[in-house]
Amino acid sequence: MSVALVWFRRDLRLQDNPALQAALEAGHTPVPVYIHAPDEEGAWAPGGASNAWLHRSLAALDADLRARGSALVLRQGDSRAQLQALIEETGAEAVYWNRKYEPATQPRDARIKRELREQGIEATSCNGSLMFEPWDIATLQGGPYKVFTPFWRNALTRMNIPAATRLPQTLPGHAAEGVALNTLGLAPTLDWDTHFWEHWQPGETGAQEALSVFIDGALNGYRQQRDLPDRVGTSLLSPHLHFGEISPWQIVRRLEAERSASRDGDIDGYIRELGWREFSYHLLHHFPQTPEQNLNPRFANFSWAKPNATQLQAWQQGRTGVPIVDAGLRELWATGYMHNRVRMIVASFLCKHMRQHWLHGARWFWDTLVDADLANNTMGWQWVAGTGADAAPYFRIFNPVTQSQKFDPHARYITRWVPELAPLPVKARFAPWQSPSLLAELAPGYPAVPLVDLAAGREAALAAYRHTG
Ligand code: FAD
Repeated sequence: MSVALVWFRRDLRLQDNPALQAALEAGHTPVPVYIHAPDEEGAWAPGGASNAWLHRSLAALDADLRARGSALVLRQGDSRAQLQALIEETGAEAVYWNRKYEPATQPRDARIKRELREQGIEATSCNGSLMFEPWDIATLQGGPYKVFTPFWRNALTRMNIPAATRLPQTLPGHAAEGVALNTLGLAPTLDWDTHFWEHWQPGETGAQEALSVFIDGALNGYRQQRDLPDRVGTSLLSPHLHFGEISPWQIVRRLEAERSASRDGDIDGYIRELGWREFSYHLLHHFPQTPEQNLNPRFANFSWAKPNATQLQAWQQGRTGVPIVDAGLRELWATGYMHNRVRMIVASFLCKHMRQHWLHGARWFWDTLVDADLANNTMGWQWVAGTGADAAPYFRIFNPVTQSQKFDPHARYITRWVPELAPLPVKARFAPWQSPSLLAELAPGYPAVPLVDLAAGREAALAAYRHTG
C-alpha cells in the first residue's frame, strides 16, 4: 500500500477530519504526524495556556490513534525539513493537511505545497475548521465584509451541511518514529495549570462530551443565559474548536438533530455565534495586519496613554479595585477561560478607562487563555477598543458597575472570584469604594479605591477620542 503523511496541525481529531479521510479514500496508509514549530507562527507563537492544552490534546490524539492500531509521530523543527525527512524515511507519495489561516503560516503552507508538487509528491490541503472559506464569502462588489450582519446573511444562503464521514475502527499501522511528547516542553513546569483540568478535558472525547453536556443543559435558554457569567450558560467549546478537536459542522449537525419548535431560537442563536467565529477568520484573512494594527485607520494617531507597567500588572492580577474586572481576570488566571461578557468588560476597562493600547490586553489574553485564537482574539479586542470591523463605537464606554449590576445581579460571579468581598452586603459588592467604612472594616485587603476613577477615566477617554482625525 502507498504511504501518505497526514500532517496534523489545528485539527486534532480523527472523526470528520477531511485530510485524514481524503488520505484513506485515496487508498494510502496514513502516517499521522505533528510538527512542533512555534517559531513559524511569527509574533504569535502559542502562549503558556495554549501550550498546556496542546500537550494534553496531542496525548489524547496519540491514544486515540493507538486504540485504532496507528500512532502519532511527533517531530520538532523546520516543518518543511521534517516533512522531507519523513517522506524519505517512509517512502510517502503524498502529504495531506487541513488548512490554517494565520498570516504567518499561510504563505509557508503555500510554499510547502508548491515545493512538494515540484518534487512529484502529491500535496492536498482541505478545509477542516471553518464552515466557509474566508475568500468564498464576498460583497456584491467582490470585496471583504466589514460588518457582521450582511456577512452572516450571505453565509446563511450558502449553508450546505456536508454529510458526516465515518472513520474505520482500525487504521493501518506504520513504523515511523518521532520524539517523546515531553521533549517538546509544552507542559508547564511550575504547575500553574493544576486547577485548569478540573474544568477541561482536552482532546476529541472531551470535546464531544462538552457538546453533549451543552445540548442537555445550557442550550435550553442559551439566548437569554449566554450573557450571564454567574452560571454555565454557554457551550465552553472554544478551546476544543480552536484546536480542531471538534469542527463547526459536527456541532451544527448535532444541533440540527435537536431542532424542535421550542429550541429553534436557541439553536439559531448558537449557530450565529459560530458565525462570529467565521467572520473573525474572514477578517483575519483579508486584513492580515490586524493582529498588530488598527483595522480602522482613524485610530492611527490615537493618543493611547503611555504603557503603565504598575497599572497593567494590577489589571492582569485582578487587583484594580473594580470587582467585576478583578473577577474576570482572576477567573482567567485560575481556569484559562473568561466569560464573553466579562471579556468585553475587562477589555473596555483597559482600553477606555486605563487608555492602554488594546495590544497589551490582547497579548495577556494570548498567553493566558486556553482558547487563545488569533482570529477571535484580534477581532474581540479591536471590537471593544472601537478600532475594528463593525466595532462598538469608541464613545460607547462600558460602565463596569452597571454592567455587573445588570449581568451579575446577585454578585454571585463577583463573589466566586473575589471572595474577600463576601462579607459585604450584596449591594456594596459592585462598587465597594462607595461604602468606604464597610470596605475598610469587612474587606480590608481589597483596594480602597479603583485603579482609575471611573468618571475621570471616561472623560479622558472621550477627550482623547475627540482628538482623533
Ligand atoms: P459560546 O457562547 O458557547 O459560543 C460558541 C462558539 O462560538 C465559541 O466557542 C466560539 O468559537 C464562537 N464565538 C462565540 N462568541 C464569539 C465571539 N464574540 N467572537 C468570535 N467567536 C465567538 N474567543 C476565542 O475562541 N478565542 C479568543 O482568543 C477570544 N478572545 C476574545 C477577546 C475579547 C476581548 C473578546 C470580547 C472576545 C474574545 N473571544 C475569543 C470570543 C468569546 O469570548 C469566546 O469565543 C467565548 O467566550 C467562548 O466561550 P464558549 O465556547 O462557551 O462560547
